Amino acid sequence: MFMGDITSLNKKQKFRNAIKLHPEWNLTYAKDHTYWEGALNDGIDRGNQPYYCPVGWKRYALYVTDHFPEKFKGWCKCYHGTKFSYGLSILLCGLKPAEIAAHGKGIYVSPSINYVCHPRYSEIKHIETPEQKKVFKSGEYIQFVLECRVHPTNIKRIVKETLGASGTIIDSNINNDIIEWLIDDQNKDVVDFNDPDASIVCTGLMIRVTDNHPGLLPESDWWFKSHLCNTKRCCCLDIDFDELKQQKNKAHTCNIVYE
Ligand SMILES: [Zn+2]
Ligand SMILES: [Zn+2]
Repeated sequence: MFMGDITSLNKKQKFRNAIKLHPEWNLTYAKDHTYWEGALNDGIDRGNQPYYCPVGWKRYALYVTDHFPEKFKGWCKCYHGTKFSYGLSILLCGLKPAEIAAHGKGIYVSPSINYVCHPRYSEIKHIETPEQKKVFKSGEYIQFVLECRVHPTNIKRIVKETLGASGTIIDSNINNDIIEWLIDDQNKDVVDFNDPDASIVCTGLMIRVTDNHPGLLPESDWWFKSHLCNTKRCCCLDIDFDELKQQKNKAHTCNIVYE
């Protein structure tokens, strides 16, 4: 699977050894695939937080542990946006708690996949090389975020969005004021996903492939009413910001590719 800026074979090797996929649990979240409206009510205990359908995303399940349903009964679903090159190290080594952060030290996650896929958090990549094209076929751009589980007692604070999006709706299911969760980092420098006592575990890779820039999706409308900039270190658009704005003004469209 293409994972972004991974050039060294050594790293690839390490990746294959450390991450186990669990393809029986792969899912596509979309109408005509796996889909529900409102909070999921399937009898499975996912803690005290609602779980909404992450429409438009494909889940590549990761193997966490045997007897996952029993061990993670009562743990809430959440998402963590990341840049391609960091994503791999997060999966291999764990999440590094934020040092300087708006709401205090810890790990930031969100119940909203539409929040964490903002390019400030989750890098957008243009699919360019022939190898990438082979994998993603009619796709032009790709994004990924991490799907995680956290036990409610490890959610230290539930806080508002920090992207200057107060004037817009980020997620029709989740209010802007409760869209960030600050997770207890247990005073560790890195929270290791392979540690059975970790406060957060990574259960999947959520991938969205689109036939045009994802900023043109209707669900990305709020990006343009929040912080968004042309600085690659900050917002990873992989397109010139002015070019994107022009395309948006000309009503260029974008479709999600599900294959
Ligand atoms: Zn590009
Ligand atoms: Zn920015």
